[in-house]
Amino acid sequence: MRLVFLGPPGSGKGTQANALSGRLGVPMISTGEMLRAAVRQATPLGMQVKATMEAGELVPDELMIALIRERLSRPDTQRGFLLDGFPRTVAQAKELDRLLATPGLAGSDGLTAVVNLDVPEAVLVGRLESRGVQEQRADDNRSTVLERLRVYREKTAPLIGFYRNRGMLIDVDGVGEVGEIEKRITEALASRGVARKTGGAVA
Ligand code: AMP
Repeated sequence: MRLVFLGPPGSGKGTQANALSGRLGVPMISTGEMLRAAVRQATPLGMQVKATMEAGELVPDELMIALIRERLSRPDTQRGFLLDGFPRTVAQAKELDRLLATPGLAGSDGLTAVVNLDVPEAVLVGRLESRGVQEQRADDNRSTVLERLRVYREKTAPLIGFYRNRGMLIDVDGVGEVGEIEKRITEALASRGVARKTGGAVA
């Protein structure tokens, strides 16, 4: 089970990936969380990305690809993984394809599917601002929120077409209760024959 969760900031993909990861027993890999941890610990990577993250911009592809390559080389990904926040650009998606075709790196038969959480922008702005207040996240204040959404539209939204063309995209309506959306995702995966599989690729 090698899934990507795609969706704009505030779409709930982190929450949903986390829940599914617990149920499937495969690790959730959240690049945003990894970067925030690096910033908190003031590692060289953290110091390098702090200002970029606070501005709501994307960290350069080379850094992200190095980070994800290292993470996918760890043994806990052999049984599968859920990616939250990666890929975020077409260049990252192409590199992910190459990584997953590398023998020994997290299984060599590619992604199983891509779950796309669909949420209108008006809903996102409200959700992101309240998260910024609750979690005191510097990247969720109003001007950063709007910039993050702009960056999403420009750099990340093209991935929807990229994965749809490959027949890998599963669209899920992301508006509603957390539990309801969880159910939609599980049903969508099952109806595609994904949830019952343990490692096979889905066309
Ligand atoms: P997230 O928690 O996924 O919304 O990520 C928070 C921030 O981390 C983003 O606004 C970016 O600055 C950075 N980030 C996380 N993942 C990536 C990625 N795959 N590519 C570039 N920047 C990223």
